[in-house]
Amino acid sequence: MSRVYNFSAGPSMLPEEVLRTAAAEMLDYKGTGQSVMEMSHRSKAYEPIIMEAQALMRRVMNIPDNYKVLFLQGGASTQFAAVPLNLMNGSGKADYILSGQFSTKAYKEAQKYGEVKAVASSKEQNFSCIPDVDPAALTPDADYVHICMNNTIYGTTFKTLPETGSVPLVADISSCILSEPIDVTRFGLLYAGAQKNVAPAGLTIVIVREDLIGHARESTPTMLDYKIMADNDSMYNTPPCWPIYICKLVLEWIEVLGGLTVMKERNIKKAKVLYDFLDSSKMFHNPVLPRDRSMMNVTFVTDSDELNAKFVKEAAEAGFVNLKGHRSVGGMRASIYNAMPLEGVEKLVEFMKKFEADN
Ligand SMILES: *Cc1c(COP(=O)(O)O)cnc(C)c1O
Repeated sequence: MSRVYNFSAGPSMLPEEVLRTAAAEMLDYKGTGQSVMEMSHRSKAYEPIIMEAQALMRRVMNIPDNYKVLFLQGGASTQFAAVPLNLMNGSGKADYILSGQFSTKAYKEAQKYGEVKAVASSKEQNFSCIPDVDPAALTPDADYVHICMNNTIYGTTFKTLPETGSVPLVADISSCILSEPIDVTRFGLLYAGAQKNVAPAGLTIVIVREDLIGHARESTPTMLDYKIMADNDSMYNTPPCWPIYICKLVLEWIEVLGGLTVMKERNIKKAKVLYDFLDSSKMFHNPVLPRDRSMMNVTFVTDSDELNAKFVKEAAEAGFVNLKGHRSVGGMRASIYNAMPLEGVEKLVEFMKKFEADN
C-alpha cells in the first residue's frame, strides 16, 4: 500500500489513525456484528455515537450551553438559504461581506428572501485580500451580518472580525473549523460543511445561539428549520450516520493531541514552512495580501501557465496530488488542513525547490 500527500481542498485528507480505526471497526463495530454504515440511527449501538460526537464538538470547540450543535445534511451551500429563512425575519434585512466565491453565492441566495446589502467587497482586488469594512456602511437594524471566515479558493482569512455591535455575526467556517480555537460567543451562528476538516462529505455542522432559533418564516422547508432539527436532536429524519461517526473519531484524535490550541500551533508551523519558501522563491509566489494569508489554503503561481501546468503534473507524479488551483483562479493551491502532517509540507517544499532549480 502506498499513500500520497493529498492537498485537495475538499473532500480532503483525514488523519491516518482515524482511517485505521474506521477500517478495524468496519465489519464489526464494538461487538455488534455490524458496520456503523448498516445501523439504524435509532439503535442502542448508534445513539452513543451521535451523542458523543456532539459532546466532543462542544468540548473541543468550547461551545457555551446557550448554543445548539446541529448535525445536518445539504452541505454549506444549503445553509446559504437556511440562514436567511431562519434569521432574516425581524427587519428582513441582512448585510454580507464579499470576500470570495462562497460569500458571493451566499449573498445571491439570500437576495431571494429579503433586503440584502453587500457592505464590503474585495472583488476589485480579485479577492486577494479581505475587504475593509466601514462601520458606517453596516445596516443598524440588520437581522445579521454574514462573512465567510476562510476563503478556500483564494487562500485568505479574517484575522480580525468585523464589529457588528448587537447585530448577530454569522460565519461560514467550512474550511477553518477545528483549525484553531474560536470564540463562539462572538457569533450568532457558525456553519460548516464537514468535508474540509472534519469528516467525509455528507455532514453539515450548524452551531447556533438559542435565541436565534424558533423564528423561521412559515414557508421554511421543515428540513431547513433549525427549531425542528434542534427539538429532535438532529434526528428528525435519518442523519448522515457514517460522517457523524468519522467526525467523532476526528474529534477524539484532536482531543488526544491536545485540542485546538495544539492544532493551531501545528497549523501555524506548517503554513510558515510553505509561506517562507514562497517569499524566498524567484519562481513561485503567493498572490495574497500577507496580512490576510490563510493557514489552511495556500495559493501560489509562477509567471507562466505552461510552467504551472508542468508543475502540477510533475508534482502529481512525485506523489503530491490535487495541487491545481480552483478552476476560477488557476495557478496552484495547497490545502493543508489538520490531517496534513508537517512532513507532507516539508517534502512539498523540497520538491518545489528542486523544480525551481531544474526549470
Ligand atoms: C467548500 C465550501 C463551501 C461549499 O460547501 P458544500 O458543502 O459543497 O456546499 C462553502 N463555503 C466554504 C467556505 C467552502 O470551503
